[in-house]
Amino acid sequence: MPLRNYSLTHSLTSSLIVKHILVDCTRYSAARQRYFGVATLKDVFEKVASRNTIAYVKDIGFYNRILCCFHISLIALILTGILTLLLIHILTAFNQF
Ligand SMILES: [Zn+2]
Repeated sequence: MPLRNYSLTHSLTSSLIVKHILVDCTRYSAARQRYFGVATLKDVFEKVASRNTIAYVKDIGFYNRILCCFHISLIALILTGILTLLLIHILTAFNQF
């Protein structure tokens, strides 16, 4: 159960990072305009050539440093995940007695 929750949290986190980098991050909005000029994640996958997406990711240096404004909300997300796991663990242990 905790393992399943972990992978769920992990895949959710990964897709949030992808969406943030490709659509939301204000730090890279100028670079996004240069390469994409689209506003939604759906548009990025449907209308933007994949070489543009790759060029954008290289340009913002995503391969070298992932840190942007997202990592604050990422930390919050991880903490929430840990607290949830802890709560499940406590409740499970409590129910055994
Ligand atoms: Zn950001």
